[in-house]
Amino acid sequence: MKYTVLSLFPELIDAFFNLSILGKAVERGIVEYCPVNIRDFAFDRHKTCDDAPYGGGAGMLMLAEPLGRALESVGARNRFEVGDGAEKVRVIYLTPSGRPFTQDLAQELSQERELVLICGRYEGIDQRIIDAYVDDELSIGDYVLSSGETAALVLIDATYRLVDEVITPASLREESFGGGLLEYPQYTRPEIYGNVGLKVPEILLSGHHENIRRWRLMKRVEKTLAMRPELIARGESAGLFDEETRSLIAELQQHKGAKDERDKGD
Ligand code: SAM
Repeated sequence: MKYTVLSLFPELIDAFFNLSILGKAVERGIVEYCPVNIRDFAFDRHKTCDDAPYGGGAGMLMLAEPLGRALESVGARNRFEVGDGAEKVRVIYLTPSGRPFTQDLAQELSQERELVLICGRYEGIDQRIIDAYVDDELSIGDYVLSSGETAALVLIDATYRLVDEVITPASLREESFGGGLLEYPQYTRPEIYGNVGLKVPEILLSGHHENIRRWRLMKRVEKTLAMRPELIARGESAGLFDEETRSLIAELQQHKGAKDERDKGD
């Protein structure tokens, strides 16, 4: 997988590719990083990359021309010039007004050969760049960051670890969102922690693999119902849950319903 990142401050991204598992994936040639400084494509000697928006309003906007030239330099093609069918790389603009970036989308993007990421600054980028070059507008959440670099890092971090051979498949299997559920709680040494003696649940020390598996599934369902009930509804309508998970959901929902009724009566 190759990440081509267009930014006015690529040094913010550089360090990330040198460290930890991602650094190793780059060393092993599984992941490639190509930083592009949009400023290198500015026309004037001041390397200007922003200007005031037409129609007035607060703030500045990134200029279309340097960004368009930077995109052309990495193989992106203006669809009004070459048409939609032409061979081209997948271009993503990180923006708060994009569609939500999710684990499913991370999985899909991790299968691409190359992603070209545009990091916005100021009030964002000229709409004509989006119309001409961008394939996906993606948001990492319902809040406004000051720059697209942090959003691009989130996308890179969530996708590279799903690229084949970066992480062992077993480590990914029961992670949050896998199979439509959140992860179960985890514990490591010591067995008893802190002054009040917080203990690791007995079942995890039992060595009984089947009981541990069932307990973990129950905890996944319990946590998902408490934190993200909409994931349960989504998983149910997508048919993601097996019989065992469905009956646990029904049991825990019944239990919660009865508790809510009791609390109302108090
Ligand atoms: N004026 C824009 C708006 O209201 O939608 C916000 C621009 S923001 C200050 C500057 C840049 O940060 C954007 O161009 C985008 O690249 C990035 N950005 C901010 N929030 C983001 C989010 N939630 N997801 C992805 N990118 C974001």
